[in-house]
Amino acid sequence: MLCCLILTFSICLTALLGDAILNVIRLPISRAFTDSLTHGLIGLITWIVVVQLYRGKFLVSKTFEVILSGFIASAIDVDHFIYNRSFDINEALHLGEHRPIFHSTSLLIVSTVVPYIFSLVYRIFWLNRLSWIILVSGMSHHIRDATRRGLWFYPIGSTKPLPKYLYIALLGILPHASFYLDTYIGKKFQILHKNTILRYIPYEEV
Ligand SMILES: [Zn+2]
Repeated sequence: MLCCLILTFSICLTALLGDAILNVIRLPISRAFTDSLTHGLIGLITWIVVVQLYRGKFLVSKTFEVILSGFIASAIDVDHFIYNRSFDINEALHLGEHRPIFHSTSLLIVSTVVPYIFSLVYRIFWLNRLSWIILVSGMSHHIRDATRRGLWFYPIGSTKPLPKYLYIALLGILPHASFYLDTYIGKKFQILHKNTILRYIPYEEV
């Protein structure tokens, strides 16, 4: 438990530190690198907390999950380049009012919750973990970006930019909320399919 608290604190500290460094860096390429690194580290530590909460042993598969979470949290910004159809860093950093597609929180939720439910019904464990990792790492990126322009729920609209301390708190809450939600939904499916061959697979069994 203490380990989870320290790691949760590390998520918040990484976000604060990343923001502080970004405030003093001016060179666009350095800013882009620092921003991506901060997103990646937050995604990485967030999934370590999730694994810890499941009391999962750090096997190769879990290490892969952690790396994947960090990679996805960082790689979401690739949509800036896709949107511009160019690898120009200056163009990628200045999209004006446009928000590229991977930054849509509504799309992230729909595109991960649907395969997540599918995975529970058909007991596809890799799809279960993959959809949950994408959701959690993607949310960590969106929450951090939301300090500038809010959370974007296409086609409805965007929230107001999140206050700094709310976003730090949300980043800390994210892995814990993820764990409890996943466990809750999993148990519901277990009850639903109690007398059938369909059964939720507790994380630690795999
Ligand atoms: Zn972004």
